[in-house]
Amino acid sequence: MSKVRFEEIIKYDHKVGIAIVGAGAAGLVAALAAKDNGADVMVFERDKEPSGSTALSSGFIPACNTRWQNAIGSKDTVDLFVDDIQRKNKNQADRQFVRNVCSISGEVLHWLVDQHKQEFILIDQFLYPGHTTHRMHAHPNRTGLALINSLFAAVNKVGIDVVCSAQVEDLFARVDGTIHGLSIKRPDGIVEIVGCDALIFACNGFGGNRIMVDEFIPEMSDGLYFGHAGNKGDSVLWAQQLGVSLSQMGSYQGHGSVATPHGVLITWAIIMEGGIQLNCDGVRFSNETEGYSEQALNVLKQPEGIAWNVFDERLHNLGLEFEDYRRAEETGAIRIANSIESLADIIGAPVDTINKSLEEIYDFSNTNLSCPFGRVFENKKELRGPPFYLVKVTGALFHTQGGIVVNNQARVMRSDGSKLPNVFASGGAAVGVSGTGVDGYLSGNGLLTAMTLGYLAGRSAGEQVNKA
Ligand SMILES: Cc1cc2nc3c(=O)[nH]c(=O)nc-3n(C[C@H](O)[C@H](O)[C@H](O)COP(=O)(O)OP(=O)(O)OC[C@H]3O[C@@H](n4cnc5c(N)ncnc54)[C@H](O)[C@@H]3O)c2cc1C
Repeated sequence: MSKVRFEEIIKYDHKVGIAIVGAGAAGLVAALAAKDNGADVMVFERDKEPSGSTALSSGFIPACNTRWQNAIGSKDTVDLFVDDIQRKNKNQADRQFVRNVCSISGEVLHWLVDQHKQEFILIDQFLYPGHTTHRMHAHPNRTGLALINSLFAAVNKVGIDVVCSAQVEDLFARVDGTIHGLSIKRPDGIVEIVGCDALIFACNGFGGNRIMVDEFIPEMSDGLYFGHAGNKGDSVLWAQQLGVSLSQMGSYQGHGSVATPHGVLITWAIIMEGGIQLNCDGVRFSNETEGYSEQALNVLKQPEGIAWNVFDERLHNLGLEFEDYRRAEETGAIRIANSIESLADIIGAPVDTINKSLEEIYDFSNTNLSCPFGRVFENKKELRGPPFYLVKVTGALFHTQGGIVVNNQARVMRSDGSKLPNVFASGGAAVGVSGTGVDGYLSGNGLLTAMTLGYLAGRSAGEQVNKA
């Protein structure tokens, strides 16, 4: 149980300027920003090495006004980016907060490249649902693992200590809410007390805590959790004891395309570029292009809680550009049907029904018939088969988006509107920009706040500690 203990400590085992809980993208970016501001920083990570949900992710970071966008003549702006996010969350996020993170998104990537030798590319082959322009950036390897490894190398290079196998358990607070220390528990049970002048929560949300998911996101109680198991909602527990404001706790990123039973993410690019989802009766059931997050629930509502992604050779080749997809192919998740009969056979649905579903989508792109779910089928993205490719998928909870309310310097706010004196929050520990449910999540909202709030938290904590 993660507790806040309102007590003084006579002697700390170690003392540090800024303590950061969690070594995912948010924690490592915060550490670099704090160190650049001259602070003495230490990161505590419960795992043997930094990974978190960041390592599991596709590593796509949305950002505007970047040099990579300029190189392709992009006309992206902060306003356009804010509008895309707010349209998706139906204006349920605080617009000023959204503007705050969007307006520094490009600056953060440029700083990481210029100061810390990070590398990014712009993904401009396809648009993710809800983005009006290309703004997804990624490590050249296009994986979250490459992103976290590269950030970890940068953190090591500037001499920041990342203390692994160190689970932060208790926080030590003064009556005014100032955090002056924390306890870390080692795998052998040994507990050490670390003193600090400021604290940054970068320990993501509560997706790995079944009880909290039941309480805040009951619709996903029985759903697969596909994020990092170590994200147990410790920041929520500490926040509750510190009188901190928590918001939009039912908000989360779902995904409607996790290969089952293989457990591999199948890129949504395949669907956006023309692929469809059929249920096991062989019929479409939604507008697949609304967003992959809400598609988690749409898929879970189908018989057996599954769907089949159906696509063609062109889209299979697109999929092969992604490491996850190649892994899915290696594990046998991608099936090939050389005829409509074989497609029906694999799905277990009548041939006539499959034929009808396919004919309908040809009609939607070639006649004035329109899709009852509102999807616009483009002629140039028409499925051409056989052969058809298919993957059995299910819906999953990727990460939670509700959390601690922060101001525009990533300072943690109390429910009464005052600031905690020396505590900051970033990434999945802070409330995100996705509104109240599953359908407000615009692709990339997760790493957007991991990178930008990490940067703000590190910089603000660094400035505060230097002034003291
Ligand atoms: C499959 C998948 C694909 C995704 N793809 C994308 C994408 O392409 N783009 C995007 O924007 N988002 C994506 N996301 C979401 C994205 O991964 C997260 O939003 C982001 O990684 C959050 O970063 P973080 O640093 O806050 O958390 P994490 O990376 O999860 O790091 C938190 C760290 O805190 C540690 N920790 C927790 N509690 C403690 C404690 N008490 N003491 C010490 N350490 C602790 C954890 O072990 C963990 O290492 C994806 C998520 C998943 C699951």
